Amino acid sequence: MSRNNNLIMTAIAQNLQAVQNAIAQAARTAGRDPQKIKLLAVSKTFSVAAIREAYQAGQRLFGENYVQEALPKIEALSDLSIQWHFIGPIQSNKTRAIAKFFSWVHSVDNLKIAERLSAQRPDNLPPLNVCIQINTSGELSKSGIHMGQVAELARAIAQLPRIKLRGLMTIPAFAASLEMQRIPFSQLREIKDSINTLSPCGAQGLALDTLSMGMTHDLHAAVLEGSTIVRVGTGIFGERNYFEGA
Ligand SMILES: *Cc1c(COP(=O)(O)O)cnc(C)c1O
Repeated sequence: MSRNNNLIMTAIAQNLQAVQNAIAQAARTAGRDPQKIKLLAVSKTFSVAAIREAYQAGQRLFGENYVQEALPKIEALSDLSIQWHFIGPIQSNKTRAIAKFFSWVHSVDNLKIAERLSAQRPDNLPPLNVCIQINTSGELSKSGIHMGQVAELARAIAQLPRIKLRGLMTIPAFAASLEMQRIPFSQLREIKDSINTLSPCGAQGLALDTLSMGMTHDLHAAVLEGSTIVRVGTGIFGERNYFEGA
């Protein structure tokens, strides 16, 4: 691996570089500007020290799945200018903490949760950036709203005063081939485009600018289909060990 400013890079810094290169390569293939694709480092189960290491290598956006795990980490890292993204399932008794400590929430899939987040977003903070999570796999166990119900939910959430609806997110079922991986991502892009278009009955189109899609194993397919935020954990921090982790 190459040297960066004559400093020998740490493993996390090398991994970050490799993921950035993979994003840039996919963007070139798709004829897209790599600058339009943000990298969210998913730090669930990883230590404060690992997050600091990634931060020192230039990473600024971090994603967490569990409020109980995230809050002590956010506190311990409050000296850094990290932008925190919540990407896990949301229980209604956790919305107050999420609204207070995170800048983005990717995993909203019902109006009640969105209303709580809006009502509980502190006045001194800008509106909370939200993505609607869509279940593209049809698996019953997965969170996310069904594709056919997204437009209605999007219009309702877009009315909430303390929320800025940014776009759509999905965690697809595992697929091994690039072609299979592309299918749910292209569906997400089409839903976003249709929500942004004036509806036939005259409703105003929304201005969604975000597709949160692509993880370590499928980020190439996601970037080809228009992803604007890829969420990468393993590719940056290594394999997760849930037994030793949070
Ligand atoms: C854990 C997680 C990721 C990261 O997955 P990797 O395969 O480790 O890159 C991305 N998005 C969500 C919602 C996750 O829970």
